[in-house]
Amino acid sequence: MGSFAIFNNGGYMIINLVAMLLLFLSCFYTEKGSRIKLGIWLLFLAMVTDFAAGWVEAETAIMYAQGSHYYTYMLYIELSLFLVEMLLLSVAASVILLNKIPSLMMIGGIAGFAIVCIVYFLFISQNGDAVFQMRYIFPMVGFIYLAAGFWSKLSQRYASGYVFAAIISSLAATFLLLRLIRLPWTTDDAHIWYFPAVTDIMFALSIIVMRINFLNSKLDEADKEIEKNNQRLQNIVKSSPFPIIISKLSDDKIIMANNNAIKLFGILPQEVERYRLKDFFVDIENRRLLTERLERERQVQDFEILVKTPTGDTPFWLLASANIIDYNNDVALYAAFQDITGRKNRELLLKNQAIRDPLTSLYNRRYFEEEVFNRILCAKTAHEDYSVLMIDADHFKRVNDTYGHKVGDKVLIELASTAEKALRENDIVARYGGEEFIIYLEKVNADKAKVVAERLRESMAAIVVYSDEGEEVRFTVSIGVSSSEVSDNVDTLIKTADEALYRAKQTGRNRVEIFRPSDLQHLDDLGAAERKLESQNHHPIFDKEDNQEISLLDGIPSNQIQENDVKIEENKGNIVLPGVDTDDLR
Ligand code: GH3
Ligand code: MG
Ligand code: MG
Repeated sequence: MGSFAIFNNGGYMIINLVAMLLLFLSCFYTEKGSRIKLGIWLLFLAMVTDFAAGWVEAETAIMYAQGSHYYTYMLYIELSLFLVEMLLLSVAASVILLNKIPSLMMIGGIAGFAIVCIVYFLFISQNGDAVFQMRYIFPMVGFIYLAAGFWSKLSQRYASGYVFAAIISSLAATFLLLRLIRLPWTTDDAHIWYFPAVTDIMFALSIIVMRINFLNSKLDEADKEIEKNNQRLQNIVKSSPFPIIISKLSDDKIIMANNNAIKLFGILPQEVERYRLKDFFVDIENRRLLTERLERERQVQDFEILVKTPTGDTPFWLLASANIIDYNNDVALYAAFQDITGRKNRELLLKNQAIRDPLTSLYNRRYFEEEVFNRILCAKTAHEDYSVLMIDADHFKRVNDTYGHKVGDKVLIELASTAEKALRENDIVARYGGEEFIIYLEKVNADKAKVVAERLRESMAAIVVYSDEGEEVRFTVSIGVSSSEVSDNVDTLIKTADEALYRAKQTGRNRVEIFRPSDLQHLDDLGAAERKLESQNHHPIFDKEDNQEISLLDGIPSNQIQENDVKIEENKGNIVLPGVDTDDLR
């Protein structure tokens, strides 16, 4: 298809070389992953061979003009190159058309036949016309076969690149046919120098389009694969015996929930996509923790979450296992749940049994001491005040004696709930002993604590409980206060608050007494308060014959308690410890 002019004119030559370079580059960048990679490279080689054959043709013409005898051999080389071009194009077409390389026998057969023709017409019959025709027939046959190869791809999706290449191949074949029949315009060499360049560029473009098409078809395949995977995942999720939810990681919106999840979260199947996963979390901090762990580890096993239904029923506990997955080209959260409310409730019950008093549901003494120990550590670091209030019902024994223990219990329950209601969330109220309560007030100094204590004393004095006979039962309390001004030790705080309470009892009951730092001087050491506390462990009631009546002491026979351990000065409620001078305690 070449023209002598290309090899006689530097400009034409450069344009043709650039066109070939473009073809090379398009082949180079297109071949990766392409199904017809070999076909593309063979096409490129065929175009290079065509160029080389054109050059030999030009040289032959020069030799002929110079009258050299060697020009027949040059013609032989030229025709052989056109033959090679034909073979390259044919193999390329086979690869494109049938996706396989033709057998060597076939290539060898065709090549052998063509060589025989060349030798015969060139050297034996010296038929100039036949030689001239072979120059066009060889590449033409190659281009026709190639065009057939590309046209065969017409029915495929994304075939525009192939169609483009098919048109170019067809045009090249037509052009060679026109040269073969010696149409005047086509044989005028000076006018057709750009033909090989245009063909190269067109092939380069069609190869680029093929590449684009190939990528699009890959995308299609990927989409189909994703769709198939989604379908598979949906089937797994639907058939799972566990509640499963898949939500988008970016906006937390639910993409899919199986029937078990729909039932568990109490939502309607058609409304699933209206919800976000976080809508079900009771505690948003819990949700944040889960997200944080997922971001770090990409999967979380056995994560406990407290959830609620959109209708706001009682929250329930779930054990969640979650993974980050790819879903529909998006990052999603795959979460499977297990309802562990029963287990959690049992745990909570056990925990409460360990730290709460069964009658009043207040914390018990052990919990109070442990918790206050920690609170004081924090308060000290933050340089904050705190106070401890010790409350004891006045003449409570009389309530029991007069109205019975059931009423006494009722009074204790009322006292507990009054204390709890009156205080802030961060304060701690505990039942310290029989009818004694203890309170820790956060960020409250002794003076403020006195105000709180007075308020409490008044509201407790206002409590009315009714006996079985409908009689009004009223009572008062005494309160002892100690504070951070006195000590940062829990035991000392309790002891000193108790000391103040003791003083309140002594000075008439239904009062509040504060233990001030100066009061420490009145005690030889804290041992005095300690001894008093010990005496309270041996509750005076133990000395009484009717102690079997007391609910807390059920099952403890009175004779186990030593008569001389503690004595009570009746009516005054003053406790006398053996070996301790009561003056020390005042
Ligand atoms: P004081 O003003 O000196 O505190 O007089 P008091 O009668 O309250 O003193 P005391 O400490 O001697 O009495 C406490 C009584 O509390 C003894 C017991 O009958 C009663 N008590 C302790 N625990 C319970 C309980 O769980 N239920 C009932 N109903 N009474 C209890
Ligand atoms: Mg009492
Ligand atoms: Mg008491």
